[in-house]
Amino acid sequence: MTPARRTLLIGAIAFVAALGGVLLGRTLFLPAPHGVELHDVLHDQLDLDERQRAQLQVVEQRFAVRRRALELELRADNARLADAIEAEHGNGPQVAAAVDRSHEAMGELQKETLAHIFAMRQLLRPNQAAKFDQAVVQALTADER
Ligand SMILES: [Zn+2]
Repeated sequence: MTPARRTLLIGAIAFVAALGGVLLGRTLFLPAPHGVELHDVLHDQLDLDERQRAQLQVVEQRFAVRRRALELELRADNARLADAIEAEHGNGPQVAAAVDRSHEAMGELQKETLAHIFAMRQLLRPNQAAKFDQAVVQALTADER
């Protein structure tokens, strides 16, 4: 790997790591781990060819299955947290344990969401990827304005 490519790669990793922090916050409040806008851009504005569309469908189906499983885990975690709050009426050890436990599924969902974004991006040609990156940034910063 040339030094220039290495620098680019490190930059890309830092960028994605930064997105991860924002995504984690958003997955708490949104049913979909990445916004609808992102898929609108992917499907409508990037002029995907037949092969890309077919590949994207596979990627989306795989992610949908994983996401559903993790969302079920999160729901179970929330139920445990509710029980703990009911039992302790405050920030007791059961509540703390339930919160810690819920971070596992949340962390998994965050990692899988990032992996999914990478998987989608991998299908794109360079000019499409540039537009996609812009849409990712927009999707993540939209409600901060
Ligand atoms: Zn997707």
